[in-house]
Amino acid sequence: MASSDERAKLLRISRGLDRLNNPCQLCKQRGAISSKTHFAANFGLAFTRTENHLEGYFCGPCIHKKFLLFTFINLIGWFGIVSIIKVPMFLLSNIAEYEFAIRAMLRKRKQRLALIEDLLEKDAQARRNLSSRGS
Ligand SMILES: [Zn+2]
Repeated sequence: MASSDERAKLLRISRGLDRLNNPCQLCKQRGAISSKTHFAANFGLAFTRTENHLEGYFCGPCIHKKFLLFTFINLIGWFGIVSIIKVPMFLLSNIAEYEFAIRAMLRKRKQRLALIEDLLEKDAQARRNLSSRGS
């Protein structure tokens, strides 16, 4: 049976490779999830309004942070004629994007853990074969 040390080491290596191959476009500290995320924010006051869009491949922590920020901007920026229509649309589409991203994060985590278990199992099998051949 593989030790939890070995498992933690493989997890670290896997995360490091992920960061190199597929870095988050915002922080570059972690690997990004495989699907593109798009958040939109509207800030309106009477007849002026600004719209912000953020789209790309991001990591989990960045997605959580940006979702909170964009939701906050939308919630305080709906005072306007166009804004009152746009804000609910943006809030809903952001929630949908966020849910999709969380599903992708969980899927990725599950796949990574399954891959590590598989590797450890193959390693243990190879060691058993070697020791049986040696005796
Ligand atoms: Zn990030």
